[in-house]
Amino acid sequence: MAYVNVKEILLKAKEGNYAVGAFNIVDYSTVRAVIQAAERGNSPVIIQTSVKTVNYYGYTPIVNWVKHLADNAEVPVALHLDHCKDLEVIRRCIEAGWSSVMIDASLSPFEENVRITREVVDMAKKYNVTVEGELGAIVGVEDDIFVDEDESYLADPESCVRYIEATGIDVLAPAIGTAHGLYKKKPNLNFDLLKNIAERTNIPIAIHGGTGLTEEMFKKCIENGACKINISTDLKHVFRTSIEAFYKENPGEYEPLKVLAHMEKGIENLITSYINVFGSAEKTEKGV
Ligand SMILES: [Zn+2]
Repeated sequence: MAYVNVKEILLKAKEGNYAVGAFNIVDYSTVRAVIQAAERGNSPVIIQTSVKTVNYYGYTPIVNWVKHLADNAEVPVALHLDHCKDLEVIRRCIEAGWSSVMIDASLSPFEENVRITREVVDMAKKYNVTVEGELGAIVGVEDDIFVDEDESYLADPESCVRYIEATGIDVLAPAIGTAHGLYKKKPNLNFDLLKNIAERTNIPIAIHGGTGLTEEMFKKCIENGACKINISTDLKHVFRTSIEAFYKENPGEYEPLKVLAHMEKGIENLITSYINVFGSAEKTEKGV
């Protein structure tokens, strides 16, 4: 169908009370698997890249993979840069054709976070690129950003309102108790806080650290105002386990394309299950 802006996808999701998954890909095959799952479910989808992945492949190849597949897909596809604190990387992604970027200055004091985020919004506006900003500090490891439990803190609703007004961001990622990576103990999400933030702000809200949350937690996040949910760790796990399973079952196999196909199938099934939980299936008209 088309390569679209993240904002476009998320405003529809907010209106329709569902969430769209943003899945961190690691290579061309995983991009393909995610888009195939979106097509299977007739769902919009966000392909998400970490800074690490961008540094590994370079800017142009990733945009080319995603745009090529999006142009030939029957669902809307967007490309988003996850947690980035380097303005130069953000500038290069915007110029290369990413449709959305996240500035993570959440560990800076509030005024400094506002100033840096504002700079990214000014940069992105000229290209009609969506900007996601973070408030509060989400616990865990994301790329080279480490936040331990002592450093983590939840977003304050009043600051969220001020942050959005002062920066002009399109999507807010407030820390509400989720964590990056694997949960060491049962996730403790503050749904009242999420609800409070959603009621006082009017832009789409992103939830980070989706891997490890239960179906019930996802549904409560969506009911309380979330419309973008990030999944990274689970995809990496299925990448590994599907390849391991393939070689265990086929020890004599040396054709790489067969293992890639098997891995793609595993990722596609994983993404399909998230699409069904997030409620984004059948939310787009095929062929439009
Ligand atoms: Zn995150």
